[in-house]
Amino acid sequence: MSRQNIRLTVQEYPVQYQGESMDEQLRNVLILYTGGTIGMIKGPRGYRPVPGFLERIVRSLPAFQDPDMPPGVTPPSRYGRRIRYEIKEYNPLLDSSNMGMDHWVRIARDIEGHYDEYDAFLVLHGTDTMAYTASALSFMLEELDKTVIVTGSQIPLSQVRNDGGDNLLDALILAGHYDIPEVCLYFRSKLLRGNRAQKLDASGLDAFDSGNFAPLAKVGIDISVRWEHVLSPTGERLRVAPITNSNVATLRLFPGITKSILDNFLRPPVQGVVLETYGAGNAPDQRVDFLRALREATERGVVIVNTTQCHRGAVAADYATGAALAEAGVTSGGDMTPEAALTKLAYLLSKGFDEARIRQLMETNLRGELTSRGSSTRFSFREKAFVNSVAKVLAATTQQEKDEIERALYPVLMCSAGGLGDLDAIRRMVDGGADLNAADYDGRTALHLAAAEGRLDVVAYLLNRGARVNVIDRWGGTPLQDAIRHTHDAIAQLLTEHGAVLRSEDAVSTMCRMAGEGNLAALRRLVDNGADPSLGDYDGRTPLHLAASEGHRDVVAYLIECGAPINVTDRWGGSPLDDAERHGHAEIADLLRSVPQANRQ
Ligand code: ASP
Repeated sequence: MSRQNIRLTVQEYPVQYQGESMDEQLRNVLILYTGGTIGMIKGPRGYRPVPGFLERIVRSLPAFQDPDMPPGVTPPSRYGRRIRYEIKEYNPLLDSSNMGMDHWVRIARDIEGHYDEYDAFLVLHGTDTMAYTASALSFMLEELDKTVIVTGSQIPLSQVRNDGGDNLLDALILAGHYDIPEVCLYFRSKLLRGNRAQKLDASGLDAFDSGNFAPLAKVGIDISVRWEHVLSPTGERLRVAPITNSNVATLRLFPGITKSILDNFLRPPVQGVVLETYGAGNAPDQRVDFLRALREATERGVVIVNTTQCHRGAVAADYATGAALAEAGVTSGGDMTPEAALTKLAYLLSKGFDEARIRQLMETNLRGELTSRGSSTRFSFREKAFVNSVAKVLAATTQQEKDEIERALYPVLMCSAGGLGDLDAIRRMVDGGADLNAADYDGRTALHLAAAEGRLDVVAYLLNRGARVNVIDRWGGTPLQDAIRHTHDAIAQLLTEHGAVLRSEDAVSTMCRMAGEGNLAALRRLVDNGADPSLGDYDGRTPLHLAASEGHRDVVAYLIECGAPINVTDRWGGSPLDDAERHGHAEIADLLRSVPQANRQ
């Protein structure tokens, strides 16, 4: 879980495979082949995808098929690992220019449907709309903890000289060796974060780049992964939140755009617009008609997001021309690509959030698509002193090494600030680029700690910034359980309002623990939150068993009042009454005996 957070280099990587059994050396990768140039053949009207062709040609290439192994198993890599892959071909195969939002959903659903069978996923895709698909998948695949790589090529595999073989093989090797729990886009030696990537070249082979975010990995003689920038998995179950609302649009400003064009563009059913503005987010502030059209639309509830037409840099309110847009109700898209902004808008609209929440989340980093505001200009950062002294002890000399140490320490610092209720420190770190969900070695996040320690303001801040509410620690504990356990009612309520749920299996063990500890208030809260006090744990021990063994009379009385079964037996055949007698709690034994037979089951 926090593995990536503490790994500073990947030098040890090859060593990991020594001593693995044959089965461990095989990684299963599912390749979803949606279409695109990579599998096309030249026909009378130009290139078109041909069913069955890609799989045939791939299997015939030595790098993809070990002749001594069953079909679809590669020869061992330099790390001694083989990859077993299966190709699921879409019907029809599409040129990606023909793709729509329903195709994104289909890909997401296919990943979901095969999630447990495979270790990683490749999506073979046309390059034209690849950046949109990668961005959309990054939002739809909530709580992703496996590697998903979208790739394709500029020249088809059917050509003697092509880039498809290398792109596919490199992507397969990456997916088969590295746990990078993100949606990535691989092209020409670079593994990019999917929602940061853009197609920049229509004919060159180095067609993709991510101007505001360095590649997650580079493939040369060696593969180097920037682990400190890879998102941490949450340990939660994958969920697909399908994009179903297509009332979004992108408008690229140009000098002389008329009010009537703008009015027409912003008309219903449009609910979300990505405005591609000039430079650092500027638009004509002397055009009253233009600003009025924007204001009227935002007042009607249309969410308009400001992104820059430039490939690098972010929108900022440095110029009056940019500030005018903010005054017209336009939301800042920071350094998001227009592709990421558009798909994020569609995703948030599809989730049914209200306009205020969508605006807020558009400015919040959800999947690494956005650099938090303030992270580039940081005037004070007290935690830095601590980071620097650690760097000194470790003799880190380069800025990169120091940055890596800073990132490695963030989870610990975030958790300790969460537990201490140091909201300023948390703000500083988040503004400085710390991951809101950064987890320590035990998978505990700042939200867990703040919930356990009753830091309401910190919990509220983290939730508003989009921290994961149902994140689990290595013992399966959630922030809601922490809040309940330590009887922080207001926090429990706030967490619930933000979607925290008590899973029944967690509720049982927490109830048993609370009953054993005699924590009546926490037990009540669990029951009030929907936990069923009649359930038992793996050993069939119910909260009543625990309370009776430990001699907590008030808890026993409460459980009887709730109708918890009295005659229930654990896996050794013991009832709560047996427990009370065995531990010499006569008063509790009497209480249990006093329950009429009819009410005992
Ligand atoms: N038109 C093709 C597509 O996007 C281009 C490519 O794959 O490179 O499907």
